[in-house]
Amino acid sequence: MTDLPTTARAIVIGGGIVGASVAYHLGKLGWTDTVLLERKKLTSGTTFHAAGLVGQLRTSANITQLLGHSVALYKGLEAETGLQTGWKMNGGLRLACNADRWTEVKRQATTAHSFGLEMHLLTPKEAQDLWPLMTIDDLVGAAYLPETAAIAAQDRLAAAAPNIVTVRTGAMLRETRALMDRASAA
Ligand SMILES: Cc1cc2nc3c(=O)[nH]c(=O)nc-3n(C[C@H](O)[C@H](O)[C@H](O)COP(=O)(O)OP(=O)(O)OC[C@H]3O[C@@H](n4cnc5c(N)ncnc54)[C@H](O)[C@@H]3O)c2cc1C
Repeated sequence: MTDLPTTARAIVIGGGIVGASVAYHLGKLGWTDTVLLERKKLTSGTTFHAAGLVGQLRTSANITQLLGHSVALYKGLEAETGLQTGWKMNGGLRLACNADRWTEVKRQATTAHSFGLEMHLLTPKEAQDLWPLMTIDDLVGAAYLPETAAIAAQDRLAAAAPNIVTVRTGAMLRETRALMDRASAA
């Protein structure tokens, strides 16, 4: 590839969600000469396989806060870029089918509340009202997290691409440029 820039303020290696996110956030900070190098195609690594679930609750307060930042970012990414991200905040259920699991779920709810996250403990019937296809014969209880969401992992990366000034990959180069053109025209 002879058309690579000879200088760059930052070079990000790897065009998965993490590399794209780094380049995106550098762009947000005003770094306009970032180069992202991808050896194959954007999102062709692990990101390609992701189901796209975006949960927030973790055992660490810092990671939970980081995921809160992701949720805030994904919520506004489509409006910011004009590109579809598949973002859908359906909420999520955690199910407990025995007493030990129910104890764990209740502890998780306490942790969630201490992190400022919404998590509601539900009876089996209340959970079924949210997801009527579910059988509840063996359900002890459930927890509902309204902010659990899903996003198309490949699309969220593409939406972040307009902030990457130069993206150099093999086959995806033209496609990425087209995305960037579409975004700047929007
Ligand atoms: C089946 C499955 C389901 C998942 N579901 C979810 C989910 O629902 N929610 C969730 O949050 N996470 C999920 N994950 C996890 C998530 O997919 C990964 O955490 C995430 O994609 C990792 O992103 P990454 O950018 O670190 O890695 P990658 O996506 O693997 O990106 C790394 C990139 O670097 C490139 N690269 C490597 N070496 C070089 C080099 N020398 N030069 C140039 N480029 C290079 C690769 O080609 C690749 O594109 C799932 C994972 C799997 C496998």
